[in-house]
Amino acid sequence: MATYTPMIQQYLKIKAEYQDAFLFFRLGDFYEMFFTDAVNASQELEITLTSREGGSEERIPMCGVPHHSAPTYIEQLITKGHKVAICEQVEDPKQAKGVVRREVVQLITPGTVMEGKGLTEKENNYIASITYFGANFGLALSDLTTGENLVTSVSGFDEVINEIYSVGAKEVVVEDSFLEEWKKKLIDRCNVTFSIENSTTLPQEFLKTTDELSEEKLISTFARLINYLQRTQKRSLNHLQRVQVYYLNESMKIDLYSKRNLELTETIRSKGKKGSLLWLLDETKTAMGGRLLKQWIDRPLVHQEKIDDRLNMVELFLQHFFEREDLRELLKEVYDLERLAGRVAFGNVNARDLIQLKKSLQQIPLIKELLQSLEDTSFGVNLDPCEDILGTLDTALFANPPLSIKEGNLIKDGYHPQLDNYRDASRNGKTWIAQLEQQERQRTGIKSLKIGYNRIFGYYIEVTRANLHLLQEGLYERKQTLSNAERFITPELKEKETLILEAEEKIVELEYQLFVELRDTIKSDIPRLQALAKLISELDVLQCFATVSEKRHYSRPTFTQTGELFLKNGRHPVVEKVLDSQEYVPNDCYMATERNMLLITGPNMSGKSTYMRQVALISILAQIGCYVPASEATLPIFDQIFTRIGAADDLISGQSTFMVEMLEAKNAIVNATNQSLILFDEIGRGTSTYDGMALAQAIIEYIHEHIGAKTLFSTHYHELTVLEKQLSALKNIHVRAIEENGKVVFLHKIEEGPADKSYGIHVAELAELPLQLILRAKEILTDLEKEDKLVNTNSSEINDVSEHYSDSQLSLFHDAPKREKQSIPKKEQNVLDLLKKINLLEMTPLDAMNELYHLQKKL
Ligand code: ADP
Repeated sequence: MATYTPMIQQYLKIKAEYQDAFLFFRLGDFYEMFFTDAVNASQELEITLTSREGGSEERIPMCGVPHHSAPTYIEQLITKGHKVAICEQVEDPKQAKGVVRREVVQLITPGTVMEGKGLTEKENNYIASITYFGANFGLALSDLTTGENLVTSVSGFDEVINEIYSVGAKEVVVEDSFLEEWKKKLIDRCNVTFSIENSTTLPQEFLKTTDELSEEKLISTFARLINYLQRTQKRSLNHLQRVQVYYLNESMKIDLYSKRNLELTETIRSKGKKGSLLWLLDETKTAMGGRLLKQWIDRPLVHQEKIDDRLNMVELFLQHFFEREDLRELLKEVYDLERLAGRVAFGNVNARDLIQLKKSLQQIPLIKELLQSLEDTSFGVNLDPCEDILGTLDTALFANPPLSIKEGNLIKDGYHPQLDNYRDASRNGKTWIAQLEQQERQRTGIKSLKIGYNRIFGYYIEVTRANLHLLQEGLYERKQTLSNAERFITPELKEKETLILEAEEKIVELEYQLFVELRDTIKSDIPRLQALAKLISELDVLQCFATVSEKRHYSRPTFTQTGELFLKNGRHPVVEKVLDSQEYVPNDCYMATERNMLLITGPNMSGKSTYMRQVALISILAQIGCYVPASEATLPIFDQIFTRIGAADDLISGQSTFMVEMLEAKNAIVNATNQSLILFDEIGRGTSTYDGMALAQAIIEYIHEHIGAKTLFSTHYHELTVLEKQLSALKNIHVRAIEENGKVVFLHKIEEGPADKSYGIHVAELAELPLQLILRAKEILTDLEKEDKLVNTNSSEINDVSEHYSDSQLSLFHDAPKREKQSIPKKEQNVLDLLKKINLLEMTPLDAMNELYHLQKKL
């Protein structure tokens, strides 16, 4: 190190403390990066890699970005999950002895960005900390942009993953000894960046934020997060709100797989919001409301009273269409108060932001009045219109201030006497100059004489060349010669100029100072603004529920304690919206103690999975306090929802689908209670027929006997429908199809009883397999059915299906050696014949899969 120049030594010393970040090292107008940082940054940012002398033998790799365009580059690095340490010159280079002192002033990380494209308006940006306590984990979450803080305690690591995934945290702060295996899992599933913080002592000034926390573990988990934020942000964090404890069992639990499968906040395929439940519901008018809506969808309620409070408000809004429309207009003018409060605390709010705040606050009395006219008892009375803040802003700030807070034109006349004095001086000086111009014209008789101003020479008198002779000698001092004019100054002019310029300089300085004071005044009101923001965002989500419910003809759900579930004309909210409601076929659903499990049969693409999802989505909508897409809905309150729904892209992604299937099934079977809802779509599809069917049956029996959860189970194993005879709470339902002109038409209508066996062939027909093949399949089916009857009449009645399976499976193996010697049996021969006839070149891979499946089924 000794051989490096002092500046590089300084760089290396600072860099040693920020190993895991790109160090943006301020050098004049640039941020420079050196060594490996430079090599990596040049690749990540596609900027040129150069090098410089640094005292050692080899040149040092270097790359840099101009300081004014740094935010864009920083954003790019952060979006890719990197961290950036901003190292500034902290003394005036002119006064520095030796190398200018430099310090890191902020570490920007994925979880701590305060502005830029990395932040989505309607999404929180959470940073989390996790602490392992042997029996459980402490989890703390903070959104620096809004000041929200949450803590909870979770029992297993899977739940930690679920939480991190559902809030979409981008960065996780842990201690040194956090297991690599856990890190890996979190990175795989939630794509987070890790940071280390070992200190868990809560700084004194945050004691008041945790006064509602009694558990030491939760406080220390939160303290880890705070210590990290303080260490990296190096500035006021006094906008951070009181910490809220939440308990996982206070909301409906939906695991990470199920959230994905049900496409609650993003779709499986595009990973985007469009097409999700959130997308369908989002009629919010404010960014805060948008974020709260997502939070509500992530955590549906389980307490009926709380749900009813929300539903009552939605109902109130539905009864008052015009007021609701007015409210929506007013909300449109309300700025993101939460993030604004955060930026006030961070000290990076400008006058335009404060004008937005003013406009927002102007809406509050109107909103309050409107709510009071509706006789709402929960919101109107509690809205604090913050009139004092509004008053201050109104008297202080011009309506259209510039973006910069260092160039004046911010503060109104009459706000501050000294400012008014300076302004008078400046204005008087300018009037004096205008008068001088008149006087000089008269005195010299030069009509074109003018007084101008430029940055280099200040005020000057300009006279054209042709008129020079009219000037009196000795009075004017020549300053500048232009091609056809000369510029002069006089002592008098300079004297006034000094006064004007001094006044202007002082104006700008004082305006800045007054602005900072104003910002600090507002800083002390941050908690009030945050409380206001909270109510406004709730109102926004509730009006949003009313708006969607009205537009889409939803109805108010009621809840039962008896476990009964009844939906009349239920619809899948998103499919309905996408399809155009004319085409959507509504379906009823009835479940109760004696029909806790529904086994759904029906061909592919008939609507089984849409039907199952609709039951889950309606339950979720009801439990977040929204009306639901059904003409009547009575529901139990579910504690958890589990799904195993095969997505079409399982086939494409080629993952070990079966393992995923089993993991998801396990998750449900281990955690579900008799208050839960389980959706199992085609369980067992990922393995061979007998294997799959056996598993499917065992799973159904297990849920029936040991769990008692409401279960919708779709299957193409027609054989399973006989289970209805054995399991008292299981009922068969199917999706109805009709034949029209000899072809099958899916009606998407759910009916009681099992599906007709021969759908497979109808589907093959729809897929336009060769006619000859279809006819042959029908013939074979008839034969097989005859055979079946023979078997049935030969053996004593087989009601126990499991025995039936094992019999047939056994016979398959036992007979095998004998069959080798014999000629191929008729059933197998039929299949071989069919196989021969298939024209592979005319089929899509999916057709082929379907065909293969049907052939296999015949064996
Ligand atoms: P399955 O699970 O039986 O294979 P899906 O539930 O995936 O079938 O439905 C297939 C398609 O049928 C859906 O993409 C949707 O467009 C349409 N569909 C499903 N249910 C309905 C319905 N009730 N009304 C109208 N169209 C529906």
